[in-house]
Amino acid sequence: MTPRGWAVLTLAGLAVALVVAVALLVPWGRPPAPRADQLAALRVLPVDQVARGRALHGALRPAGWSAIVVGLAVALLLGLTPLGGRLVEAAGRPFGGHWVAQAVLGGLVVLLLADLLTLPFSAWRHTVLVRYGLNTQGWGGWAVDLLKSYAVSAVLGALVLLGFYAVVRLAPRWWWAFGAAGAAVLVMVLSFVLPVLVEPVFNRFTPMEPGPLRTELTSMAARDGVPVRDVLVADASRRTRAVNAYVSGLGPTRRVVVYDTLLREAEPAEVTSVVAHELGHAKDRDVWTGTLIGALGAAAAVVALYLVGSWSPLLRLAGVDSIAQPRAFPLLIALVTVAGLLSTPVQALVSRRVEARADAHALALTDDPATFEAMQRRLAGVNLADPDPPRWEYLWSASHPSTVERMAAARAYARESGR
Ligand SMILES: [Zn+2]
Repeated sequence: MTPRGWAVLTLAGLAVALVVAVALLVPWGRPPAPRADQLAALRVLPVDQVARGRALHGALRPAGWSAIVVGLAVALLLGLTPLGGRLVEAAGRPFGGHWVAQAVLGGLVVLLLADLLTLPFSAWRHTVLVRYGLNTQGWGGWAVDLLKSYAVSAVLGALVLLGFYAVVRLAPRWWWAFGAAGAAVLVMVLSFVLPVLVEPVFNRFTPMEPGPLRTELTSMAARDGVPVRDVLVADASRRTRAVNAYVSGLGPTRRVVVYDTLLREAEPAEVTSVVAHELGHAKDRDVWTGTLIGALGAAAAVVALYLVGSWSPLLRLAGVDSIAQPRAFPLLIALVTVAGLLSTPVQALVSRRVEARADAHALALTDDPATFEAMQRRLAGVNLADPDPPRWEYLWSASHPSTVERMAAARAYARESGR
């Protein structure tokens, strides 16, 4: 069999594995709470809070959609015309067109160009968030964060580009197989190692002071069977008013991280409720589920890119002979961008189901639906959420159930448990 035949077979196998993983690991059997409960929940929210959340999201929408449209247009323009290939060539020219220079510099130039062209929309978004008091950063802090994230992406991007094109040179007929395995490993590294390395670049962490809340959080974690080594406070207030908490690390390194904004804004019982939700993610191994699905998806994407990338009309448009040469990197990015947009609603749906299960876990662990609901109201108020967003936007990108869905879930729990 030819490498192409093996690729078709591998893609079919990966697709089946992906479908099986999504079917078995994602909690599909828990539909959102009834719409009537959601509407009842919406009615108890303060009218001005709802209006403010809706106004913020209305103000953010043009910047968000413009960034998507411009990002897609740039990717298609560079990828489906010879323009992108020429850019890669130009970046490699000072180095005699060496493949390393083309691969790394050319690749980074293409990525940076797309970032720079959507930068005005990020700035627009920042002005809206500042206007609504959600973001507390000045332009200086915003720029520093931006440069930090560029630096992280550049280092990571250079390594990936170098690795990918080195493999292509070493195994011109089988690179897709190594690439698929490499992409799967990369997803694992990104989800387990990178957070631990990147977290300290953006925030400072200090152990939570001993007291009733700290004791309650550690004992709740132990009771839940997900012991944590430490409870840390992140100084998120340097940049935002938004509140959050998460559990990171695995096994002996597992720790609970609480934003200082959450401690400032919420009652201790509500903080407990948020942490109970995060413990649900740890207990149900949601990071593992996400990583496995992501790894299978990434591997399948590499094989699919190889197959789609050998389609000659596409190569002619980009003015390249093969998808595997550095000059075809912009074409690769165009295909990845389109695939990313198509998979956005699917990823959002999976995420919402997983988040709803963590909510159910929090309700069962704390057995305190009233505090859970109060916390959801507070979260919506502080984060200026649209508690009941437009349906199309929700289906497109909502990673969490809406505020009214989460409140309705608490009411359903209260009803069922007779509280
Ligand atoms: Zn969550």
